[in-house]
Amino acid sequence: MKTTLNVNKSAGTSTAHFKLQCSSCDEHVKSVRREFSNQAWAALVAWQEISSMAVDEPICNDCYFNFRDVLIDRADEMRILSANTASASVSHATAVGARA
Ligand SMILES: [Zn+2]
Repeated sequence: MKTTLNVNKSAGTSTAHFKLQCSSCDEHVKSVRREFSNQAWAALVAWQEISSMAVDEPICNDCYFNFRDVLIDRADEMRILSANTASASVSHATAVGARA
């Protein structure tokens, strides 16, 4: 069995989790940073749903639910998209994964 010491260091990050302006639509509303995967953010940028500036930044509820719907609707496309974009840069990860 593999024992991993999981010290939760990254839990409190220095970047803002919370703002009063949405990074995506610029509305002055309560906005929270959302937990999308890197693939999801990349897909949203590629589909021009979100500006690359707003990636990993706090966004409002409206944008969040909108993005979530888009990601659900286009899940297949995202898989293809991430397979294409990942193959160039993440070739190492595949080799590592194959050993596990
Ligand atoms: Zn918004």
